[in-house]
Amino acid sequence: MEGRGRSTSIEQVAGSKLAKLEADALRRVLSETERANEGRTSRNGRQLLSFCCNDYLGLSQHPNVKRAASKAAEKYGAGAGASRLVTGNHPLYSDLESRLARLKNTETSLVFGSGYLANIGIPPVLAGKGDLILADELSHASMHAGMRASNAFTRLFRHNDIGDCHRILVEERSKYRHCLVMTEGVFSMDGDRAPLQGLCDLAEEYGAWLMTDDAHGLGVLGNGRGSAAAAGLAERIPLQMGTLSKAVGSYGGFICAAKPVIDLLINRSRSLIYATGLPPAAVAAASAALEIIETDRELVNIPMERAKRFTRQLCLPDPESTIVPLLTGTSERALRLSHLLEEEGFLVTAIRPPTVPDGTARLRFTFASHHTDEDIDRLVKAVKKRGVLE
Ligand SMILES: *Cc1c(COP(=O)(O)O)cnc(C)c1O
Repeated sequence: MEGRGRSTSIEQVAGSKLAKLEADALRRVLSETERANEGRTSRNGRQLLSFCCNDYLGLSQHPNVKRAASKAAEKYGAGAGASRLVTGNHPLYSDLESRLARLKNTETSLVFGSGYLANIGIPPVLAGKGDLILADELSHASMHAGMRASNAFTRLFRHNDIGDCHRILVEERSKYRHCLVMTEGVFSMDGDRAPLQGLCDLAEEYGAWLMTDDAHGLGVLGNGRGSAAAAGLAERIPLQMGTLSKAVGSYGGFICAAKPVIDLLINRSRSLIYATGLPPAAVAAASAALEIIETDRELVNIPMERAKRFTRQLCLPDPESTIVPLLTGTSERALRLSHLLEEEGFLVTAIRPPTVPDGTARLRFTFASHHTDEDIDRLVKAVKKRGVLE
């Protein structure tokens, strides 16, 4: 053997890892997709109606939102040019941050480059060595990444299980100084909501800080204000995180909290400090979209109505959000059913491990304001015809 170690090329290693993913029906590919108005998408030259997009209110295509984005690009340029702490804090941020704070009923807010960057950058500032972080086991990958990036002791509690969360608090809380409890308001792959009332009670009883990720609640629950408002708990959740890239139709992430917390994040959060500010167009688009969410009560309630029409026709329980998963068991079956629905003219992507736990591959349907009752009825027919529920 040569002294310098074996020479397996990086291409060989990558190739064999991909072959394993392929064999397990877990290989992912990027499909070029063009999105037009009203959920019509085109892929491989075919027109499809999408039921897997997070643009719940169609705001990414709204004329006011697009106009705000172009005006901002014309006035301030295409990029922010630097971190917000250097010269990237263009004048559009303050309007967006005050809108977010108003919508969530908090003192102030802070916009990050994305939801992922917010979740990876916030926990390490609030909890470190000698502190405890508890999180729901099904929390988004970015929350897990944020927990891991902190030096805190971390434990997961069983999904939406207040009793398990309580048990861990009894076991661990007294050994640590501060405690952060993290969950999603609406679970992105399951569509169910967190038991926020119980988590608020526990957090208060055990001197813990509750942080919710409401990526899928903002814009569609609680008259657009999100899952905390829907549960009447906005004032009791000190850390309300969310994204501008789902119902808001733009790009970016944020946290709503008290001013000292925000000021500390500005000073300490590495994903804010060491990343370039958002393009002005994205910030202006988010503000214009929030204006619509704040004022159009009718629009924000439509996606839930559509989701309900879908579940009722399939004799499923009423949905808790605009996300309705139908479990398929294996990844192969998820892929096959997704292709079959594509043949019927619908785009519903298969969600496979590791995005969801092993054995729980699924089709994840999302409902939006631009879906008509007739669209839902056609989808239901296709779901029945193709045996998705069998
Ligand atoms: C999409 C999502 C994120 C990430 O937000 P981006 O703005 O897309 O980076 C975080 N948490 C949850 C629950 C999400 O669904």
